[in-house]
Amino acid sequence: MTIAIIGAGMAGLACAEALTSRWTIVRLFDKGRGPGGRMSTRRVSTASGDASFDHGAQYFTARDPAFAPVVADWEAQGVAAPWLAVGPDAWVGTPGMNAPIKHMAARHDVTWGCRIEAIERTSQGWTLAGDGLSPDVYDAVILAIPAEQVSALIGTHAPDMAAKADAAKALPCWTVMLAFEKAIETPTDTIRDAGAIGWAARNSAKPGRTGPDAWVIQASPDWSTAHLEDDAETVIAHLSQTWAECMAITAPQPLSATAQRWRYARSGNAGTDALWDETLKIGVCGDWLLGPRIECAWLSGTALGNRI
Ligand code: FAD
Repeated sequence: MTIAIIGAGMAGLACAEALTSRWTIVRLFDKGRGPGGRMSTRRVSTASGDASFDHGAQYFTARDPAFAPVVADWEAQGVAAPWLAVGPDAWVGTPGMNAPIKHMAARHDVTWGCRIEAIERTSQGWTLAGDGLSPDVYDAVILAIPAEQVSALIGTHAPDMAAKADAAKALPCWTVMLAFEKAIETPTDTIRDAGAIGWAARNSAKPGRTGPDAWVIQASPDWSTAHLEDDAETVIAHLSQTWAECMAITAPQPLSATAQRWRYARSGNAGTDALWDETLKIGVCGDWLLGPRIECAWLSGTALGNRI
């Protein structure tokens, strides 16, 4: 069976892992320039070297008995480590949050930088439309992308699945990234739920990180929603100031200050692990089916692969 997976984030790759072990031919396509999805790591070059920021997901849990051994294997391979300062079940990718994605993607046939614009069903099977794609035909197609992007691709083929995706609304997240020449002295390396801030952490305090002192400051869902269309400079100024006040410090001029507007950060929860139509041979997986977490994305992708 030949299967195309659109989206090579945690859900798409987990699905590929489950399918490959059952002797299918799987190809993945991702519009991102490199591995990460919402687990991406951004590098910013500064006068003191490259600063690294996990500007999407901050850490993940491994509570499910099926996911825990996978994470233990990542630890053995050096691509994940516990972040005990945050909690007994907090894990991060090493040296960046995208490391597990890179590790999984290396085992599969992934085409990066390839946005799928449409899918079509012919008498032979499924074809994909996108820049530079060859006219291959697949027996099955899987969408492993955020809910908000599902309808545009499958609305005409599988309206019931599209309706579930449309109902699962994600919350946005403004993220500010600051790098400093010297490590700033603060009472703590993390802040949770303080005014406009939902979460802030010294990224360089995570295991395996190198480079200048780097901070990631993420606005709360409420603040991000209210300020979604603000410009980056205004957001950087406000969140930096709130962060400095929480830490009771006067922060020095940063080496770099950047921001990322995530329109779809914390997914909804459709209340089911994955969707599969055996007749059409079309499937959907992603965090939004189970909840806004990396572990949910893995469980959803794995469930779909096993079902197929
Ligand atoms: P994604 O990672 O979004 O992967 C989907 C992939 O599909 C992307 O790589 C994208 O490029 C690709 N794609 C989309 N459309 C197309 C198309 N048309 N053609 C080709 N490719 C396409 N989770 C936690 O567990 N802990 C946290 O602390 C945490 N914090 C978060 C903070 C932020 C700011 C964000 C944004 C997310 C956070 N999450 C956290 C959530 C976590 O990142 C996600 O649950 C998980 O990464 C989702 O994986 P996924 O594979 O479902 O989706």
